[in-house]
Amino acid sequence: MNLEETKKLLVAGEWVPAADGGVAQTYDPADGQLLASFAEAGPADVDAAVAAARRAFDDPEWRAMSPDARGRLLWRIADLIERDAAALAELETHDQGQPISMSSGVNVVLSAQVFRYYAGWCTKIEGRVSSVSVPDTLHYTRREPVGVCAIITPWNFPLAIAAWKLAPALACGNTVILKPAEQTPLSTLWLARLCVEAGVPAGVVNCLTGGPPAGQALVAHPGVDKVSFTGSTEVGKQIVAGAAGNLKRVSLELGGKAPSIIARDADIDAAVAGNLQGALFNTGQACGAYTRFFVDHKRADEFTEKIAAAAARLPIGPGIRPDTVLGPLVSAEQLDRVAHYVDSGVRQGAQLVTGGRRATGPDVERGHFFEPTVFAGVRDDMVIAREEIFGPVLSIFTYEDEDEVVARANDTDYGLAAVVWTQDTVTAHSLAGRIRAGTVFVNLLPLIDPGAPWGGFGLSGWGREMGSFAVDEFTETKGVFLNLAR
Ligand code: NAD
Repeated sequence: MNLEETKKLLVAGEWVPAADGGVAQTYDPADGQLLASFAEAGPADVDAAVAAARRAFDDPEWRAMSPDARGRLLWRIADLIERDAAALAELETHDQGQPISMSSGVNVVLSAQVFRYYAGWCTKIEGRVSSVSVPDTLHYTRREPVGVCAIITPWNFPLAIAAWKLAPALACGNTVILKPAEQTPLSTLWLARLCVEAGVPAGVVNCLTGGPPAGQALVAHPGVDKVSFTGSTEVGKQIVAGAAGNLKRVSLELGGKAPSIIARDADIDAAVAGNLQGALFNTGQACGAYTRFFVDHKRADEFTEKIAAAAARLPIGPGIRPDTVLGPLVSAEQLDRVAHYVDSGVRQGAQLVTGGRRATGPDVERGHFFEPTVFAGVRDDMVIAREEIFGPVLSIFTYEDEDEVVARANDTDYGLAAVVWTQDTVTAHSLAGRIRAGTVFVNLLPLIDPGAPWGGFGLSGWGREMGSFAVDEFTETKGVFLNLAR
């Protein structure tokens, strides 16, 4: 990507600088080097993008495009993501910090996959004939696009999260304004370019880079019909309040504090390997990351010893190095936040088994690296047990029986993901039914698949993404009553 090009916003099919000339910078978290400047959208840019999206929504070129043609468009975007996969993965790793194995093997792959998946949906968005009791009438439903959608995304999986919202929004015939996080705007700008190259009509996809003010202006804008947001619970609440003016549709994918239950009969080596990955992928900066480890008291010492030893051995370094497993945290602010939580764990009396400090060494001293950290003897009321840390910090608790562990695992404001490690199918299904979370994994890493719903209970948000659920989120239902009386 030509780094001059990053300084423009995509509005009505044209790349333009911010109206007030605003520019901000994004840095490589592995070494603190300036990566690129980007345009900082102001209120005039938000107005222009919303107006462009509205015009495009009403324009027959988009509104009357056949489902088959829309499907082909989405398929082309998937092809273009794959064409640029290596460069996109490298860009994401420099901007976000994640290991190249993750940006290329998960982030970019999922992005292309989700466009293919929703390309197929374009020809399958159907209403139904309703079983009404009014005599001599026919009633049927239509699924219609919601309208102008603001898609506001976080910094942890920038490309994949933008893709998993944009693909269903377009499949359903909406128009969109993408607003990536200010820490990681580059891969979303690239995605917007690919949409233009694929032939998406002008104004159907707009892209505004910038910080919270651009997001706030979109959320409050009377010309926006829906906000699809992924980010922190705190900002999610502000979005609900900000969207009240015109009662926008709002879907929210927010924080998590996933419990991992390791039953007495669990294969401990498999649980250690899976939990380590589940806790530390993207350096723990994942909403579905496993963070609260409830281990049957008879297996707790073995589990703690093994997972701490394995965590301490993980290669830490710049994400661009092929052997890196733990990259940097996204920013200095995030590094401070994680260090603050670790200090609070120590102060409140948790036992620090490994880690607990900023990583040191020639490869990491200029970046935002933190050692993988394992606490044992954690109490349910400690801050590290209750708040989302979003870093490489694991907390181990012990439990005695199933009723107790269910109550404690569910004693959280969040409810996004959970995992159960057991070799017994009855235990697996029983716990899957009793844990309050949007997704329960059994003997598995936290995975995202375009065909499986993703979203949470409680403070983890509103609605579900992926599968047919995203089609519901990005459409309105209209009923049509016909008089058939002669
Ligand atoms: P954040 O909430 O700070 O920011 C997310 C986005 O919202 C950014 O684009 C930001 O510019 C924008 N924003 C900030 N304030 C705003 C406001 N008042 N109005 C409108 N927009 C505003 O989140 P983050 O720190 O970028 O991301 C980390 C959070 O995201 C974590 O809490 C994590 O759990 C969550 N997350 C959830 C999921 C999920 O699927 N549930 C996935 C990834 C991340």
